[in-house]
Amino acid sequence: MRRIDLLTLTVEDLVLLSNRGLVKRAQRELESGQLTYQFTQTAEEDLRFDWSDGVTCYLPNEAVLCDRHCNCTALSICRHLVRSILAYQASAAPAPTASETEEIAPTSVVWNPGEITERSLEQYFSVAKLKQLKQTFHAGQVIEVTCSHRPIAQLHSFPYTLRFLVKGDLRYTYCDCGDKSPCIHVPLAVWAFRQLSPGQSSGIISTEPTVLAVPCELLLAIENALQDLVTTGLRGLNASFMAVLKQLEQQCRQAALPWLAIAIVDLITLCEFYRSQDGRFSPNELQQAVVEICMRIDAMRSQTGAIPQLFVRGPETAKDTALRATRLIGLGCSVSLKATYFTFNAYLQDTHSGRTLTLSSKPHPSLENAADTTFWDAAKAKALKQTNWPTLGAGQVLIKRGACTLDYQLHLKRNQPAVVNPQKFEWEKLCSPLLVDDFIELQNHLKLKPPKYLMPRRAAENFSVLAISRVEDICFSSAEQAVTAHLHDQYNNSVALYFPYTEAARNGAEDLLTWLARYKLLFVSGSVVMRAMQIRIVPTALVFEINNHRQMFQPWIHSCRSNSDEIKSLILPAYKNCQLITHSVHNHSAKKYLDTLLKTFSEMLVSGLIIVPSSKMVMLDSLAQRGTLLGFRQLSSQLSKLSYQLQNQSEQQILLAQQYLSILVLLEILHLPSS
Ligand SMILES: [Zn+2]
Ligand SMILES: [Zn+2]
Repeated sequence: MRRIDLLTLTVEDLVLLSNRGLVKRAQRELESGQLTYQFTQTAEEDLRFDWSDGVTCYLPNEAVLCDRHCNCTALSICRHLVRSILAYQASAAPAPTASETEEIAPTSVVWNPGEITERSLEQYFSVAKLKQLKQTFHAGQVIEVTCSHRPIAQLHSFPYTLRFLVKGDLRYTYCDCGDKSPCIHVPLAVWAFRQLSPGQSSGIISTEPTVLAVPCELLLAIENALQDLVTTGLRGLNASFMAVLKQLEQQCRQAALPWLAIAIVDLITLCEFYRSQDGRFSPNELQQAVVEICMRIDAMRSQTGAIPQLFVRGPETAKDTALRATRLIGLGCSVSLKATYFTFNAYLQDTHSGRTLTLSSKPHPSLENAADTTFWDAAKAKALKQTNWPTLGAGQVLIKRGACTLDYQLHLKRNQPAVVNPQKFEWEKLCSPLLVDDFIELQNHLKLKPPKYLMPRRAAENFSVLAISRVEDICFSSAEQAVTAHLHDQYNNSVALYFPYTEAARNGAEDLLTWLARYKLLFVSGSVVMRAMQIRIVPTALVFEINNHRQMFQPWIHSCRSNSDEIKSLILPAYKNCQLITHSVHNHSAKKYLDTLLKTFSEMLVSGLIIVPSSKMVMLDSLAQRGTLLGFRQLSSQLSKLSYQLQNQSEQQILLAQQYLSILVLLEILHLPSS
């Protein structure tokens, strides 16, 4: 009989169980041919390796692989054990046939760890321990589980990520809690997997108590503040109102509602922008902040169970996490574009916890004259200590101490040093679930995401790194005004690459086409979304292999433009057609209608509901009629009601404000798919 558990382990699995350096050394020792070994197998399928350098390794069939199984002094899984496993795999492999010399896609099976029985769990955990863990499980966990070749469980409440490496075998699990496997999170994950219904391959399993206490008074106070805001309008903003908002933000933090607190901070910032006549004020953003607050409040009150309250409210222990000495791997720097400003965001993976941290710049006013300036020029500013954004995105940061805020922003105090060095872009070493080598797994994960306004408030929530096997269909799409391509994983699943053409990042778009066509693409980092049943990634950085060296390309802040005329001729005519295309998009009647409504509503938000001119009321009436024609029935009946209330000012102000807010929420929901 063959030891299937050992044969299933891939090199990447061995890296997870030990580390890359040890695996490399073990491989080199084997390849050198200088070592020999004697190999014995008992009837119980325990293996014993006696190596010519005096080392003896045991690979017992029923035990967890650990340092005790080698006679050397190492305190963790050593290179001798790795070497023995590799030697066993080589000896047990059948002679290669002709077809196997070609590269074939791995053919392991997709499986569900829920199949693991209670008896298997009892082999590694005492009955008392399991009983205790069962209580933990039912005390309110949110665990996202995904069946795949190597199933994954994300324990959001802790938060840890756990992977099952070998089908049905608890000894080969990898959890970023760092405890020896199987750690206490394994039974929790197995129980969560069991709650998937038949045929379901992924899901968010929540064991939160059915109804959490609702902080009624606080939510009411926030709603009152919003109603005051829309009644008096931005023009009526004063210092005492700002003080109320700041107080509410503090109360949210105390009541363990950090995500609501952060949404209120956004609102405060935008109100301050308006008050100081700052060019970064954007009525759209303000509306979105108001809508998010309304939605989170509604979701807390109704608790339908569709979305875990953990996502709606945020973690209970709402404190910054202290970072000890660690290494942060740069994953590139991108630009987040808003109507009136933009920010630089650098993404970094903490090699210790596996978390993706973000470092964001202050909002820059939009580039006035984009023909002369690019994001590259602006990115030369200092990002972290003395380092600029491009160097930070492509580097690695060593810190001794620091903090990770609740929304995973990196925070270093002035006296906390950071050293930024170049990195080798060995992104296959990045921790999962950030690193994705199976796009089906990513797709299952994205399908479970709550809507935008009810997601955890973390900047890197949608950020992934994809391992790429093949690139196809590279082109500049004039219809979408973007560089597009299809990227394939090792199983031949594909995602769409999408890099929008902007004047300030034109160098990036032009050179991206050249690089994609010329060099081998290994990894792409960026934010991923589901668009029409396909995953789309907007790249933050791409890692290419050029003459056996890896090089990073950051399209948003890319500096030089290659002088390839062929590329220019590809893009420039398409760019000139831009006017025509934008025009046709705007003519789309439903979208145009919603845009008009949003604009009308933002004007009302500025002036306030107490002084709505009669012309606007007439406009609301006609918008309600057009809405009916376009099929927005619910929306138009709400609009008619608002218009009626406005015309009969005898109505209570508070009802008017409530009506306005509920339409605003409805509008944002309708607008979401196109935004
Ligand atoms: Zn050893
Ligand atoms: Zn664990």
